[in-house]
Amino acid sequence: MKKIRIICLFAVCLVLSAVVLTACTPSEQPPEPANVTHTQWTVMTDTIYETTVHKYVTDKSGPKVCIVGGIHGDEVAGWTAGLDLVDLIPEWENVCGEILLIPQANILADTLHQRYPGSTDGGMYEGIEYSDINRTFPGDPEGTVTQQIAAAIADTVREFTPDYIIDLHESRHSWSTSNSLNLGDTLIHNGATSALFMLDLIDYYNSTYREEGDVAFAYNSSPPEGSFNEYFTHYFPESVVFTIETNRELNLEKRVSQQILILTALFDTIWQ
Ligand SMILES: [Zn+2]
Repeated sequence: MKKIRIICLFAVCLVLSAVVLTACTPSEQPPEPANVTHTQWTVMTDTIYETTVHKYVTDKSGPKVCIVGGIHGDEVAGWTAGLDLVDLIPEWENVCGEILLIPQANILADTLHQRYPGSTDGGMYEGIEYSDINRTFPGDPEGTVTQQIAAAIADTVREFTPDYIIDLHESRHSWSTSNSLNLGDTLIHNGATSALFMLDLIDYYNSTYREEGDVAFAYNSSPPEGSFNEYFTHYFPESVVFTIETNRELNLEKRVSQQILILTALFDTIWQ
């Protein structure tokens, strides 16, 4: 009996020392961060619509991600997040693959904080007629100024052949208010092949990054005709295309943070 007790004690000691050893052994070194090459150029060059395109190419294989902000100038959190991303992306843990970023697609509208130039005044600004770029895709390089801007942005995105395409927008109110037409706090997506991916992404964001008191983000499947989202959903049917719609009733800092955190949730999912 005494012998059995000693054997048991010995076994317990062995297990305990294994646990201690495991806890003290330095964990595997984190992988080396990727080297990131950042290049930039402009579209609509030498016009008042000139805007910068940023491209980040890493030395680690991974998906091609395209992020566009500022299509609607009064949706300030979208293009503010886009501008923040210029410096954030190359420093991002686990960054890999390639990223194309256009922070301010409709830069004159962004400067004016208007949906499109003159949108609060019948569509005329400085004697030129504008319309909603997000009903104009894929645009026309020979058409109106609005069509030309849409064409320049569409061209740049098509050439990149992205796997993930994200458009940063805002809405006036949250979906959780009584009017079901409100798009705030939603991700708009209408791609058949990636619907499950989007449901998982929304769940992951809500459970991991949503702050206490924030409305849970919901899925919306109705990108309007001529929108960036609708055009690229059809042009790249194998890619994941979605629009982030934060709620403009919240303060700007919160909305920008939500935009960045939704992208963080995406990157967690696709950058391994
Ligand atoms: Zn918008």
